[in-house]
Amino acid sequence: MRYLSRIFQPVITIPKNAKIKNTEITCKSQKLLLECGLVRPTTSGFFTLLPLARRALDKLENLIKTCIESSGAQRLSLPALTSAGLWAKTGRLENAAAELLTLEDRHNKKYLLAPTYEEAIAELLSDLKPISYKQLPIILYQISNKYRDELRPKHGLLRAREFSMLDAYGAHASSACALQVYGRMATAYEHLFRALHLKVHKVEAPSGDMGGSFSHEWQLAATSGEDQIKVCPSCSHAALLNDEGTRCQSCGKDAEILQSIEVGHTFILGTKYSEALEATYCPPSGPPLPIIMSCYGIGITRLLAASLEALSTEKALRWPKAIAPYSAIIIGPKEGSKEWNDHGMDQVKLVYDALNSVPALRSDVLVDDRHGLTIGKRLLMADKMGYPIVIACGKESSSNPPRYEVTIDGATQLCTAQELVQTLSDKYTHLEYCT
Ligand SMILES: [Zn+2]
Repeated sequence: MRYLSRIFQPVITIPKNAKIKNTEITCKSQKLLLECGLVRPTTSGFFTLLPLARRALDKLENLIKTCIESSGAQRLSLPALTSAGLWAKTGRLENAAAELLTLEDRHNKKYLLAPTYEEAIAELLSDLKPISYKQLPIILYQISNKYRDELRPKHGLLRAREFSMLDAYGAHASSACALQVYGRMATAYEHLFRALHLKVHKVEAPSGDMGGSFSHEWQLAATSGEDQIKVCPSCSHAALLNDEGTRCQSCGKDAEILQSIEVGHTFILGTKYSEALEATYCPPSGPPLPIIMSCYGIGITRLLAASLEALSTEKALRWPKAIAPYSAIIIGPKEGSKEWNDHGMDQVKLVYDALNSVPALRSDVLVDDRHGLTIGKRLLMADKMGYPIVIACGKESSSNPPRYEVTIDGATQLCTAQELVQTLSDKYTHLEYCT
């Protein structure tokens, strides 16, 4: 069994208006992740993800991997350091200078800790010349830590200087092919957000420093968000709030204004990077042509924090079911109680085995073995952590047949072990991954 008392989880209480390492606590995900012992700040904008947060992030990364690969993308790993010379060739070394973390090696060669990899991918493609049009399209992706020297890192994981990110790149022989792959990747994004039960709005966006012909931002509504979107209640059209006012561009009705967090960005890049770095392909006839590129990003640590912002209350974490650090926790009787004297850990073991017999919950169940604490106290702590399934072995666990207090998605009922397995098998048939 996996025991809560063995989990490295330094729980703390943060007094009102307190600062942690000189950082103000400005949003609920930041406060709750700290208080629940999931994250520790190291230095401004950098965080240690403690085991339970790491576990949630692993689940999220795996889910993203499944969704993205269903569009045909293949994973690779590029070095964390990109030569600064490559960025000089595309003009971004100068344009993005303020946000780049740079360093030099012993030979005075300059590098940057990459925030994104358009240059590195274009160079890889250029290095493999000549690529035939028959090999295209190619979609490559990474899941790795990226770096951005934010002027003011804030809101904890929402705006950090180091973050986990999905970055994917499409290489295409034509604009039509780029658009087709773009559509496929957008579908993968939609599957991902549906699996997380998050309402993420796809909105047209300016391409900014990235260049290219068009792009979309993927925005999750949350009150602490720094962006604003307008969502039409009548036709569901969503757009960034801009100078054109609050009317829906699509049907003309008044749209609702929402604060939101950008969790993803997708671009058709065109040939900006391939021309600068001479990444070409051979068409059926004629001279080589620059590869048309597209790119796709998801801020993974940001998405984790943003989903907590969107779902949690001020006092308690709430996770998308698919990424809760553990899906279920079992709370055993209090030491010295009648139930404890009747059956001790026997009922806990029985419930543990029952839960593990549900395939979607296997190895995802924790036992709160702090039997010196009352069940009520441990229930409160489980609620604050936001485990989707909480099972307490209270008074009824001594009756015949034994029954347990089961809380799923906030609703509590008394169940036998058999009823519990039935209910959970129905609810957790299969995690609704990519269809
Ligand atoms: Zn409308």
